[in-house]
Amino acid sequence: MYTGNALDEENKIIAKGEGIYLWDVQGKKYIDALSGLGVVNIGHCNQQVVAAIKEQSEQLEYISPFMGFSHPSVLKLVDLLSPLIPIKNPKFYFVNSGSEAVERAIMIAKQYHIRRNMPNKQMIIGLEGSFHGSTLACFSVGGLPNLSHFYGPLLPGTIKADCPNCYRCEFQKESCNYYCIQKLKKLIQYYRSENIAAFIMEPIMNAKGIVVPPTGYVKKAYELCRENDILFICDEIVTGFGRTGSMFVAQEAGIQPDIITVAKGLSSGYIPISAAIISEQIADEFTKRSSIQNVYGSTFGGHPIACAAAYANVKVILEDNLVENANEIGQYIEEKFKSLYQFNFVGDIRGRGLMWGIELVKDKKSKERYPLSMKLSQRMESGLYEKGLLCRVAADVIRLCPPLISSKEDIDNIYTILYDFFSNLDLNNNL
Ligand code: PMP
Repeated sequence: MYTGNALDEENKIIAKGEGIYLWDVQGKKYIDALSGLGVVNIGHCNQQVVAAIKEQSEQLEYISPFMGFSHPSVLKLVDLLSPLIPIKNPKFYFVNSGSEAVERAIMIAKQYHIRRNMPNKQMIIGLEGSFHGSTLACFSVGGLPNLSHFYGPLLPGTIKADCPNCYRCEFQKESCNYYCIQKLKKLIQYYRSENIAAFIMEPIMNAKGIVVPPTGYVKKAYELCRENDILFICDEIVTGFGRTGSMFVAQEAGIQPDIITVAKGLSSGYIPISAAIISEQIADEFTKRSSIQNVYGSTFGGHPIACAAAYANVKVILEDNLVENANEIGQYIEEKFKSLYQFNFVGDIRGRGLMWGIELVKDKKSKERYPLSMKLSQRMESGLYEKGLLCRVAADVIRLCPPLISSKEDIDNIYTILYDFFSNLDLNNNL
Protein backbone atom coordinates (compact mmCIF):
# COMPACT_ATOMS: atom_id res chain seq x y z
CA MET A 1 0.00 0.00 0.00
CA TYR A 2 1.41 3.37 -0.95
CA THR A 3 1.25 5.51 2.14
CA GLY A 4 3.11 8.60 0.99
CA ASN A 5 5.32 8.01 4.03
CA ALA A 6 8.32 5.83 4.54
CA LEU A 7 6.27 3.35 6.55
CA ASP A 8 6.45 0.27 4.39
CA GLU A 9 9.37 -1.96 5.09
CA GLU A 10 10.32 -2.28 1.46
CA ASN A 11 10.45 1.49 0.96
CA LYS A 12 13.65 2.77 -0.54
CA ILE A 13 14.67 5.69 1.63
CA ILE A 14 16.42 8.42 -0.31
CA ALA A 15 18.30 11.00 1.70
CA LYS A 16 20.08 13.23 -0.81
CA GLY A 17 20.03 14.36 -4.43
CA GLU A 18 22.38 16.26 -6.68
CA GLY A 19 22.20 16.65 -10.45
CA ILE A 20 21.19 13.29 -11.92
CA TYR A 21 22.19 11.37 -8.77
CA LEU A 22 20.44 10.22 -5.63
CA TRP A 23 21.83 8.68 -2.45
CA ASP A 24 19.94 6.44 -0.04
CA VAL A 25 20.28 6.56 3.75
CA GLN A 26 23.05 3.97 3.60
CA GLY A 27 25.00 6.28 1.29
CA LYS A 28 24.53 4.15 -1.83
CA LYS A 29 24.53 6.22 -5.03
CA TYR A 30 21.96 5.84 -7.83
CA ILE A 31 21.52 7.34 -11.26
CA ASP A 32 18.07 8.88 -11.29
CA ALA A 33 17.12 7.83 -14.81
CA LEU A 34 13.49 8.68 -14.03
CA SER A 35 13.87 12.30 -12.83
CA GLY A 36 11.93 11.27 -9.74
CA LEU A 37 8.82 10.55 -11.81
CA GLY A 38 9.41 12.46 -15.03
CA VAL A 39 9.56 15.57 -12.85
CA VAL A 40 13.05 16.85 -12.05
CA ASN A 41 13.88 18.25 -15.49
CA ILE A 42 16.77 20.43 -14.27
CA GLY A 43 18.23 17.78 -11.94
CA HIS A 44 18.25 17.62 -8.16
CA CYS A 45 19.11 20.47 -5.80
CA ASN A 46 19.87 23.17 -8.33
CA GLN A 47 21.14 26.05 -6.21
CA GLN A 48 19.47 28.78 -8.32
CA VAL A 49 16.05 27.32 -7.55
CA VAL A 50 16.95 26.69 -3.91
CA ALA A 51 17.98 30.38 -3.57
CA ALA A 52 14.78 31.60 -5.27
CA ILE A 53 12.66 29.56 -2.86
CA LYS A 54 14.54 31.00 0.11
CA GLU A 55 14.27 34.56 -1.15
CA GLN A 56 10.52 34.33 -1.81
CA SER A 57 9.93 32.67 1.59
CA GLU A 58 11.55 35.68 3.21
CA GLN A 59 9.47 38.18 1.17
CA LEU A 60 5.96 36.77 1.12
CA GLU A 61 5.06 33.15 1.79
CA TYR A 62 1.30 33.31 1.12
CA ILE A 63 -1.48 35.56 -0.06
CA SER A 64 -4.98 34.45 -0.96
CA PRO A 65 -5.76 34.28 -4.68
CA PHE A 66 -9.29 35.45 -3.78
CA MET A 67 -10.65 38.95 -3.22
CA GLY A 68 -8.71 40.39 -6.13
CA PHE A 69 -5.25 39.72 -4.69
CA SER A 70 -2.22 38.86 -6.77
CA HIS A 71 1.53 39.04 -6.14
CA PRO A 72 4.74 39.79 -8.08
CA SER A 73 5.87 36.16 -8.04
CA VAL A 74 2.89 34.91 -10.09
CA LEU A 75 3.00 37.94 -12.42
CA LYS A 76 6.69 37.38 -13.16
CA LEU A 77 6.00 33.72 -13.87
CA VAL A 78 3.15 34.51 -16.27
CA ASP A 79 5.37 37.00 -18.16
CA LEU A 80 8.11 34.42 -18.50
CA LEU A 81 5.79 31.59 -19.56
CA SER A 82 3.45 33.43 -21.94
CA PRO A 83 5.78 33.58 -24.98
CA LEU A 84 6.74 29.91 -24.48
CA ILE A 85 3.22 28.50 -24.57
CA PRO A 86 1.88 27.45 -27.99
CA ILE A 87 -1.37 29.31 -27.40
CA LYS A 88 -1.92 32.92 -28.46
CA ASN A 89 -2.39 35.18 -25.41
CA PRO A 90 -2.53 32.25 -22.99
CA LYS A 91 -4.37 32.58 -19.68
CA PHE A 92 -3.08 30.64 -16.69
CA TYR A 93 -5.09 28.85 -14.10
CA PHE A 94 -2.60 27.72 -11.45
CA VAL A 95 -3.31 24.76 -9.19
CA ASN A 96 -1.21 22.22 -7.31
CA SER A 97 -0.92 18.86 -9.06
CA GLY A 98 -1.24 17.34 -12.50
CA SER A 99 -4.58 15.75 -11.63
CA GLU A 100 -5.97 19.04 -10.45
CA ALA A 101 -4.87 20.77 -13.68
CA VAL A 102 -6.65 18.11 -15.78
CA GLU A 103 -9.71 18.23 -13.54
CA ARG A 104 -9.89 22.01 -14.07
CA ALA A 105 -9.34 21.61 -17.81
CA ILE A 106 -12.32 19.25 -18.00
CA MET A 107 -14.49 21.59 -15.92
CA ILE A 108 -13.48 24.63 -17.96
CA ALA A 109 -14.26 22.80 -21.23
CA LYS A 110 -17.67 21.74 -20.00
CA GLN A 111 -18.57 25.13 -18.59
CA TYR A 112 -17.29 26.94 -21.70
CA HIS A 113 -19.93 25.28 -23.88
CA ILE A 114 -22.66 25.94 -21.33
CA ARG A 115 -21.68 29.60 -21.20
CA ARG A 116 -21.85 29.84 -24.99
CA ASN A 117 -25.34 28.35 -24.95
CA MET A 118 -24.41 24.92 -26.21
CA PRO A 119 -25.26 22.96 -23.04
CA ASN A 120 -25.42 19.60 -24.80
CA LYS A 121 -21.72 19.68 -25.64
CA GLN A 122 -20.58 17.82 -22.52
CA MET A 123 -18.97 14.53 -23.58
CA ILE A 124 -15.21 14.11 -23.34
CA ILE A 125 -13.19 11.82 -25.60
CA GLY A 126 -10.00 10.32 -24.19
CA LEU A 127 -7.65 7.67 -25.53
CA GLU A 128 -7.53 4.02 -24.50
CA GLY A 129 -4.39 3.50 -22.44
CA SER A 130 -4.02 7.14 -21.44
CA PHE A 131 -3.43 8.41 -17.93
CA HIS A 132 -4.48 11.88 -16.86
CA GLY A 133 -4.32 11.72 -13.09
CA SER A 134 -5.95 10.15 -10.08
CA THR A 135 -9.13 12.08 -9.32
CA LEU A 136 -12.43 10.54 -10.35
CA ALA A 137 -12.82 12.84 -13.37
CA CYS A 138 -9.23 12.12 -14.41
CA PHE A 139 -9.86 8.37 -14.15
CA SER A 140 -13.02 8.88 -16.21
CA VAL A 141 -11.24 10.48 -19.15
CA GLY A 142 -8.18 8.24 -18.77
CA GLY A 143 -8.07 4.86 -20.42
CA LEU A 144 -6.48 2.49 -17.95
CA PRO A 145 -9.43 0.31 -16.87
CA ASN A 146 -7.53 -1.41 -14.08
CA LEU A 147 -7.38 1.97 -12.33
CA SER A 148 -11.02 2.90 -12.71
CA HIS A 149 -13.01 -0.29 -12.23
CA PHE A 150 -13.06 0.05 -8.45
CA TYR A 151 -15.21 3.16 -8.51
CA GLY A 152 -18.45 2.14 -10.17
CA PRO A 153 -19.99 4.51 -12.69
CA LEU A 154 -17.55 7.28 -13.39
CA LEU A 155 -18.17 10.69 -14.94
CA PRO A 156 -20.99 10.17 -17.47
CA GLY A 157 -20.31 10.95 -21.10
CA THR A 158 -16.67 9.96 -21.20
CA ILE A 159 -15.79 7.91 -24.26
CA LYS A 160 -12.58 6.34 -25.51
CA ALA A 161 -10.89 6.36 -28.88
CA ASP A 162 -8.33 3.73 -29.89
CA CYS A 163 -4.81 4.02 -28.57
CA PRO A 164 -2.45 5.11 -31.37
CA ASN A 165 0.12 2.48 -30.42
CA CYS A 166 2.22 1.79 -33.53
CA TYR A 167 4.12 -1.17 -32.05
CA ARG A 168 0.88 -2.98 -31.28
CA CYS A 169 -1.23 -1.44 -34.02
CA GLU A 170 -4.36 -3.46 -34.65
CA PHE A 171 -5.08 -1.86 -38.00
CA GLN A 172 -1.85 -1.44 -39.87
CA LYS A 173 -0.63 -4.36 -41.84
CA GLU A 174 1.92 -2.98 -44.27
CA SER A 175 1.83 0.80 -43.99
CA CYS A 176 0.23 3.38 -41.77
CA ASN A 177 -2.99 4.77 -43.20
CA TYR A 178 -3.93 6.53 -39.99
CA TYR A 179 -6.73 4.09 -39.29
CA CYS A 180 -6.61 5.33 -35.70
CA ILE A 181 -7.58 8.79 -36.98
CA GLN A 182 -10.26 7.35 -39.23
CA LYS A 183 -11.69 5.51 -36.22
CA LEU A 184 -11.59 8.72 -34.17
CA LYS A 185 -13.53 10.45 -36.95
CA LYS A 186 -16.15 7.68 -36.91
CA LEU A 187 -16.43 7.94 -33.13
CA ILE A 188 -17.10 11.68 -33.40
CA GLN A 189 -19.68 11.04 -36.13
CA TYR A 190 -21.37 8.39 -33.99
CA TYR A 191 -21.62 10.51 -30.82
CA ARG A 192 -22.14 13.70 -32.89
CA SER A 193 -20.05 16.78 -32.41
CA GLU A 194 -22.97 18.75 -30.95
CA ASN A 195 -22.65 16.49 -27.88
CA ILE A 196 -18.85 16.57 -27.50
CA ALA A 197 -17.07 19.16 -25.38
CA ALA A 198 -13.44 18.16 -25.71
CA PHE A 199 -10.84 15.63 -26.78
CA ILE A 200 -7.93 15.06 -24.40
CA MET A 201 -4.65 13.34 -25.16
CA GLU A 202 -1.08 12.99 -23.94
CA PRO A 203 0.99 13.71 -27.05
CA ILE A 204 3.32 10.93 -25.90
CA MET A 205 1.60 8.47 -23.61
CA ASN A 206 3.56 8.03 -20.44
CA ALA A 207 1.85 5.45 -18.23
CA LYS A 208 1.01 3.21 -21.18
CA GLY A 209 4.76 2.79 -21.69
CA ILE A 210 6.04 5.80 -23.65
CA VAL A 211 3.69 5.23 -26.55
CA VAL A 212 4.57 7.64 -29.36
CA PRO A 213 1.63 8.10 -31.79
CA PRO A 214 2.42 7.97 -35.50
CA THR A 215 3.97 11.17 -36.86
CA GLY A 216 1.19 13.59 -37.72
CA TYR A 217 -1.36 12.00 -35.38
CA VAL A 218 -1.47 14.98 -32.98
CA LYS A 219 -2.02 17.44 -35.83
CA LYS A 220 -4.64 15.28 -37.52
CA ALA A 221 -6.54 14.77 -34.25
CA TYR A 222 -6.34 18.52 -33.62
CA GLU A 223 -7.68 19.33 -37.10
CA LEU A 224 -10.52 16.87 -36.61
CA CYS A 225 -11.41 18.66 -33.38
CA ARG A 226 -11.28 22.04 -35.11
CA GLU A 227 -13.58 20.82 -37.92
CA ASN A 228 -16.07 19.59 -35.32
CA ASP A 229 -15.98 22.48 -32.82
CA ILE A 230 -14.47 20.21 -30.17
CA LEU A 231 -11.92 21.67 -27.73
CA PHE A 232 -8.45 20.09 -27.94
CA ILE A 233 -6.87 19.53 -24.52
CA CYS A 234 -3.20 18.66 -24.73
CA ASP A 235 -1.96 17.03 -21.53
CA GLU A 236 1.72 18.03 -21.45
CA ILE A 237 2.14 17.25 -17.76
CA VAL A 238 5.04 14.92 -18.55
CA THR A 239 6.07 16.10 -22.01
CA GLY A 240 6.13 19.83 -21.25
CA PHE A 241 9.18 22.00 -20.56
CA GLY A 242 11.65 20.26 -22.79
CA ARG A 243 11.21 16.62 -21.87
CA THR A 244 10.86 15.48 -25.50
CA GLY A 245 13.49 17.81 -26.96
CA SER A 246 11.05 20.63 -27.72
CA MET A 247 9.51 22.99 -25.19
CA PHE A 248 6.06 21.48 -25.85
CA VAL A 249 5.04 18.71 -28.22
CA ALA A 250 2.11 20.88 -29.32
CA GLN A 251 4.56 23.47 -30.63
CA GLU A 252 6.52 20.83 -32.51
CA ALA A 253 3.29 19.45 -33.97
CA GLY A 254 2.37 22.93 -35.20
CA ILE A 255 -0.87 23.21 -33.27
CA GLN A 256 -2.43 25.71 -30.87
CA PRO A 257 -4.46 23.66 -28.38
CA ASP A 258 -7.41 25.24 -26.61
CA ILE A 259 -6.14 24.04 -23.26
CA ILE A 260 -2.69 22.76 -22.24
CA THR A 261 -2.14 21.14 -18.85
CA VAL A 262 1.32 21.36 -17.30
CA ALA A 263 2.81 20.29 -13.99
CA LYS A 264 5.96 18.26 -13.46
CA GLY A 265 8.59 20.18 -15.44
CA LEU A 266 6.99 23.53 -14.58
CA SER A 267 8.86 23.64 -11.28
CA SER A 268 10.91 20.44 -11.73
CA GLY A 269 9.11 19.35 -8.56
CA TYR A 270 11.00 21.70 -6.24
CA ILE A 271 7.55 22.82 -5.02
CA PRO A 272 4.30 21.37 -6.40
CA ILE A 273 2.60 23.65 -8.94
CA SER A 274 0.54 22.94 -12.05
CA ALA A 275 -1.65 24.86 -14.46
CA ALA A 276 -4.48 24.59 -16.92
CA ILE A 277 -3.48 27.07 -19.62
CA ILE A 278 -6.35 28.25 -21.74
CA SER A 279 -6.87 30.24 -24.91
CA GLU A 280 -8.10 33.82 -24.85
CA GLN A 281 -11.27 32.72 -26.61
CA ILE A 282 -12.20 30.41 -23.72
CA ALA A 283 -11.15 32.93 -21.09
CA ASP A 284 -13.35 35.57 -22.74
CA GLU A 285 -16.44 33.41 -22.24
CA PHE A 286 -15.68 33.30 -18.53
CA THR A 287 -14.61 36.88 -17.99
CA LYS A 288 -17.81 38.14 -19.58
CA ARG A 289 -19.37 37.51 -16.20
CA SER A 290 -16.68 36.78 -13.65
CA SER A 291 -12.93 36.53 -13.38
CA ILE A 292 -11.41 33.20 -14.42
CA GLN A 293 -9.43 33.07 -11.19
CA ASN A 294 -12.67 33.18 -9.23
CA VAL A 295 -14.53 30.59 -11.24
CA TYR A 296 -13.33 27.79 -8.95
CA GLY A 297 -11.28 28.66 -5.95
CA SER A 298 -7.97 27.10 -5.05
CA THR A 299 -6.52 28.15 -1.72
CA PHE A 300 -2.99 27.27 -2.76
CA GLY A 301 -3.24 27.92 -6.52
CA GLY A 302 -0.52 30.32 -7.67
CA HIS A 303 1.30 29.99 -4.34
CA PRO A 304 4.07 32.65 -4.18
CA ILE A 305 6.88 30.23 -3.27
CA ALA A 306 5.78 27.67 -5.87
CA CYS A 307 5.68 30.42 -8.52
CA ALA A 308 9.16 31.59 -7.51
CA ALA A 309 10.45 28.01 -7.81
CA ALA A 310 8.78 27.60 -11.22
CA TYR A 311 10.20 30.92 -12.44
CA ALA A 312 13.75 30.01 -11.40
CA ASN A 313 13.35 26.51 -12.86
CA VAL A 314 12.14 27.76 -16.26
CA LYS A 315 14.98 30.30 -16.29
CA VAL A 316 17.48 27.44 -15.81
CA ILE A 317 15.82 25.46 -18.63
CA LEU A 318 16.13 28.47 -20.96
CA GLU A 319 19.55 29.79 -19.94
CA ASP A 320 21.25 26.39 -19.85
CA ASN A 321 19.71 25.40 -23.22
CA LEU A 322 18.25 22.26 -21.69
CA VAL A 323 15.63 21.80 -24.40
CA GLU A 324 18.34 21.71 -27.07
CA ASN A 325 20.37 19.36 -24.87
CA ALA A 326 17.38 17.01 -24.49
CA ASN A 327 17.02 16.97 -28.26
CA GLU A 328 20.70 16.24 -28.88
CA ILE A 329 20.97 13.60 -26.16
CA GLY A 330 17.74 12.05 -27.40
CA GLN A 331 19.32 11.48 -30.80
CA TYR A 332 22.34 9.95 -29.07
CA ILE A 333 20.07 7.57 -27.13
CA GLU A 334 18.25 6.58 -30.30
CA GLU A 335 21.51 5.54 -31.96
CA LYS A 336 23.17 3.99 -28.94
CA PHE A 337 20.24 1.98 -27.64
CA LYS A 338 19.65 0.30 -31.02
CA SER A 339 22.24 -2.28 -30.06
CA LEU A 340 19.98 -3.46 -27.22
CA TYR A 341 17.88 -5.14 -29.92
CA GLN A 342 20.54 -7.89 -29.83
CA PHE A 343 18.75 -9.23 -26.75
CA ASN A 344 15.97 -11.52 -27.83
CA PHE A 345 13.56 -10.09 -25.25
CA VAL A 346 13.88 -6.45 -26.37
CA GLY A 347 10.84 -5.94 -28.59
CA ASP A 348 10.67 -2.18 -29.10
CA ILE A 349 12.69 0.89 -28.16
CA ARG A 350 10.81 4.15 -28.63
CA GLY A 351 10.77 7.71 -27.45
CA ARG A 352 12.00 11.19 -28.07
CA GLY A 353 14.30 13.59 -26.28
CA LEU A 354 14.73 12.28 -22.76
CA MET A 355 11.60 10.14 -22.62
CA TRP A 356 12.20 6.53 -23.66
CA GLY A 357 10.56 3.14 -23.30
CA ILE A 358 12.04 -0.32 -23.83
CA GLU A 359 9.30 -2.92 -24.26
CA LEU A 360 10.18 -6.48 -23.27
CA VAL A 361 8.52 -9.38 -25.05
CA LYS A 362 8.66 -13.15 -24.86
CA ASP A 363 8.62 -13.47 -28.62
CA LYS A 364 9.84 -10.69 -30.88
CA LYS A 365 7.92 -11.91 -33.90
CA SER A 366 4.51 -12.45 -32.35
CA LYS A 367 5.12 -9.71 -29.71
CA GLU A 368 3.74 -12.12 -27.13
CA ARG A 369 4.17 -10.84 -23.58
CA TYR A 370 5.66 -12.71 -20.65
CA PRO A 371 3.06 -14.21 -18.31
CA LEU A 372 1.90 -11.84 -15.57
CA SER A 373 2.75 -14.52 -12.99
CA MET A 374 6.44 -13.85 -13.70
CA LYS A 375 6.09 -10.34 -12.24
CA LEU A 376 8.68 -9.31 -14.80
CA SER A 377 8.20 -5.55 -14.36
CA GLN A 378 8.55 -5.55 -10.57
CA ARG A 379 11.56 -7.80 -10.68
CA MET A 380 13.24 -5.77 -13.41
CA GLU A 381 12.64 -2.53 -11.56
CA SER A 382 14.09 -3.81 -8.29
CA GLY A 383 16.95 -5.61 -10.08
CA LEU A 384 18.01 -2.43 -11.85
CA TYR A 385 17.62 -0.44 -8.65
CA GLU A 386 20.03 -2.83 -6.94
CA LYS A 387 22.49 -2.11 -9.75
CA GLY A 388 22.19 1.61 -9.02
CA LEU A 389 19.69 2.62 -11.70
CA LEU A 390 16.40 4.24 -10.78
CA CYS A 391 13.84 3.70 -13.54
CA ARG A 392 10.20 2.67 -13.72
CA VAL A 393 9.18 -0.65 -15.18
CA ALA A 394 5.46 -1.20 -15.71
CA ALA A 395 3.49 -3.30 -18.20
CA ASP A 396 6.87 -4.76 -19.25
CA VAL A 397 8.15 -1.40 -20.45
CA ILE A 398 11.30 0.05 -18.91
CA ARG A 399 10.70 3.80 -18.73
CA LEU A 400 13.73 6.07 -18.82
CA CYS A 401 13.24 9.81 -18.31
CA PRO A 402 16.58 11.14 -17.05
CA PRO A 403 16.97 14.85 -16.22
CA LEU A 404 17.45 17.23 -19.15
CA ILE A 405 20.96 18.03 -17.90
CA SER A 406 22.10 14.49 -18.79
CA SER A 407 25.28 14.25 -20.85
CA LYS A 408 26.37 11.60 -23.35
CA GLU A 409 28.58 10.16 -20.62
CA ASP A 410 25.58 9.85 -18.30
CA ILE A 411 23.71 8.00 -21.04
CA ASP A 412 26.73 5.70 -21.52
CA ASN A 413 26.58 4.88 -17.80
CA ILE A 414 22.84 4.15 -17.96
CA TYR A 415 23.42 2.01 -21.04
CA THR A 416 26.21 0.03 -19.36
CA ILE A 417 24.01 -0.84 -16.37
CA LEU A 418 21.19 -1.92 -18.67
CA TYR A 419 23.53 -3.89 -20.93
CA ASP A 420 25.18 -5.76 -18.05
CA PHE A 421 21.83 -6.44 -16.46
CA PHE A 422 20.34 -7.76 -19.71
CA SER A 423 23.45 -9.88 -20.39
CA ASN A 424 23.01 -11.70 -17.09
CA LEU A 425 19.27 -12.19 -17.42
CA ASP A 426 17.85 -15.62 -17.84
CA LEU A 427 14.18 -15.09 -18.43
CA ASN A 428 13.55 -18.80 -18.73
CA ASN A 429 14.58 -19.19 -15.13
CA ASN A 430 15.00 -16.51 -12.53
CA LEU A 431 15.95 -12.92 -13.02
N1 PMP B 1 -1.28 13.60 -16.65
C1 PMP B 1 -0.25 12.83 -17.00
C2 PMP B 1 0.10 12.67 -18.46
C3 PMP B 1 0.52 12.19 -16.02
O1 PMP B 1 1.54 11.39 -16.38
C4 PMP B 1 0.20 12.40 -14.65
C5 PMP B 1 1.02 11.78 -13.53
N2 PMP B 1 2.06 11.01 -13.86
C6 PMP B 1 -0.89 13.21 -14.34
C7 PMP B 1 -1.61 13.79 -15.36
C8 PMP B 1 -1.28 13.44 -12.91
O2 PMP B 1 -0.36 14.21 -12.21
P1 PMP B 1 -0.31 14.20 -10.62
O3 PMP B 1 0.23 12.88 -10.19
O4 PMP B 1 0.62 15.35 -10.30
O5 PMP B 1 -1.67 14.45 -10.11
